Amino acid sequence: MREGPACGIERPIALQALAGDVAVEPPATLRCETALQLARWMEKTVKPALAVAMPGETIAGLRQASGYVCRNRNNTEEGKISEHAFGNAVDIAGFTLKSGKTIDIRPAERDSTLDGAFQRAITEAACLYFTTVLDPGSDAAHENHLHLDVKERRGGYRYCW
Ligand SMILES: [Zn+2]
Repeated sequence: MREGPACGIERPIALQALAGDVAVEPPATLRCETALQLARWMEKTVKPALAVAMPGETIAGLRQASGYVCRNRNNTEEGKISEHAFGNAVDIAGFTLKSGKTIDIRPAERDSTLDGAFQRAITEAACLYFTTVLDPGSDAAHENHLHLDVKERRGGYRYCW
């Protein structure tokens, strides 16, 4: 897919679910690499962390707020093009659990509950799979979601805070 001179994905995929019946809500258009890292993060970090933080709960849905979209960073008129415009990024708004409970991404730096510890744990661990992780502590534009992307940087450097 192509849009204008800058945006597009060579081989886009429509990601509807992850392993173990985790629905992607709504389905996201992504590059394969982004979907792969999302699947790894879910399997190796999010599910195990949830099992510790909320025993008996199971993840039924991953609520995403943005996959592919042709736009600049933080929706500004001028400035750099967003990794979302290449299918490299996905924004995570929260999770739906089988019990019906929902978990929303929110400012959690000083949240002393297990929910807060769960969010901080999965955010830190996301940097093992994604090269950019922005969370509600990053700036006002990310107050209600995690921005995860697979932008390639020289030396494999990561930008996570
Ligand atoms: Zn984003």
